[in-house]
Amino acid sequence: MKYSYQPVIGLEIHVQLATATKIFCSCSTDYIGAEPNTNVCPVCLGLPGALPVLNGKAVELGIKAAMALSCTIRDKTVFHRKNYFYPDLPKAYQISQYDLPLAEGGELFIAGEGGALKRIRITRLHLEEDAGKLVHSAADGRLEGSECSYVDYNRGGVPLAEIVSEPDLRSPREAREYVTSLRRLVRYLDVSDGDMERGSMRVDANISLQKKDAATGEILYWGERSEIKNMNSLRAIERALEYEIRRQTVVLENGGVLELETRHWNDGDGVTTSMRSKEAAHDYRYFPDPDLPPIEASPALLEKVRTSLPEMPWAREARFRNEFALPEADAALLSETMPLADYYEICVRSGASAARASNWVRTEVLRVLNEQNIAIEQFSLSPKDLGALVRLVDDEKLSTTAARETFNAMIRDGVSLEKALEASGGARGKLSGNALADTVRGVLASNPDVVAEIFDGKDDKGKKKKFIVGLVMKEARGQADAASVGELLDTLLQEKP
Ligand code: ADP
Ligand code: MG
Ligand code: ZN
Repeated sequence: MKYSYQPVIGLEIHVQLATATKIFCSCSTDYIGAEPNTNVCPVCLGLPGALPVLNGKAVELGIKAAMALSCTIRDKTVFHRKNYFYPDLPKAYQISQYDLPLAEGGELFIAGEGGALKRIRITRLHLEEDAGKLVHSAADGRLEGSECSYVDYNRGGVPLAEIVSEPDLRSPREAREYVTSLRRLVRYLDVSDGDMERGSMRVDANISLQKKDAATGEILYWGERSEIKNMNSLRAIERALEYEIRRQTVVLENGGVLELETRHWNDGDGVTTSMRSKEAAHDYRYFPDPDLPPIEASPALLEKVRTSLPEMPWAREARFRNEFALPEADAALLSETMPLADYYEICVRSGASAARASNWVRTEVLRVLNEQNIAIEQFSLSPKDLGALVRLVDDEKLSTTAARETFNAMIRDGVSLEKALEASGGARGKLSGNALADTVRGVLASNPDVVAEIFDGKDDKGKKKKFIVGLVMKEARGQADAASVGELLDTLLQEKP
């Protein structure tokens, strides 16, 4: 009998919510680069007598994400204590949610195999507090030679939304798609900056293998899942899952047994290693936090959040495809973040053709953002000006070369479109016909030596002709296109000078 192995994947994603203060106290959440243990207070340090007060903004952002994922918001939600000891958790319990999470039963659509939309069910979205950070150091200046660990509680108490998917993903590529879609969503909603490298989005991946009869598809055996921790990039997620598929396949092929376990992804070595057999919920002795009353969803709050929802990124992407006839990949790229999508759309609404505006934004604009290492919000050229510039090209009032020069001048000199056009001689339209021929003749006349050499057949690989074309282009200040100059030159060079 022939077998095949089908991966089954479900993800638990921790998203750091974009609040200014922590979830149960008023300490700042701005911990990156802060002096260790400066953003702390008795509440987030778990000192005796301190009481948590729920941050309304965190609830609001959680509801916003949940609504965008089509989850049902619970009428009543409760915080539980999840008990375990670890030095980054000063209370020896984490305030989280258990059987009454903020929201349940949603969905997110991803591009599945073959491009068709695939529905991934969302099990739940709940709120919890983040833990502190341990810094393990063997060579720290303060305690030279000794091995020691430090703990920084600045991150402790920062609000997280944990979003749990059903095991609906079937390949590492789908897992990557799902994370990408979710990241785009939380960014659109301003729920989180979604920055994986900085830890604003942390993914735990659960994966098991089904051994199937290749002929009938019948599941012959379904191994226990392992949960992989410590992946902090899309690439790491994909690689870790691919590794885990290979590892689990080998175990099953050799008649081994897969245990429910937690594994650690080692990015440098490209392997997962076992950390511990997986703990179960009862190990944590969950119980409702007596310091935090249950919260009931107020219709007014729900309404407020509902009306604050923007056009969803996938809707915008579809609209870009339909309304502007953009290819799939271009629509996806331009709708990746709301500011970029807005920029592009204003360009088009300012009169530029959708296709040319798309080209300009994807190539020229993104190139400059990359060179200047800035976000689109900091880009000096307004989308209105770019739209107007592209419009001139659409109307053939400006050659692409001249438009590019104008574009660069606007950015370099920080001037408006009018000023840049003035400086470059204005939108004169492309040189053609007699005007272009005159320019070419002028250049030929002032370079008799080169022309004579071309006549004598001394033009090594057409370099001299190229040189002449270059001079004409310069003379035309970008108002000519190189191909027509080349053709014209061939004709004119037939004439005796
Ligand atoms: P825990 O907190 O114990 O990890 P959760 O219910 O919070 O449990 O999360 C379980 C995760 O594991 C979910 O994302 C779910 O989709 C995934 N999962 C459950 N069963 C399987 C399975 N057989 N194979 C792969 N993933 C699974
Ligand atoms: Mg888990
Ligand atoms: Zn605090």
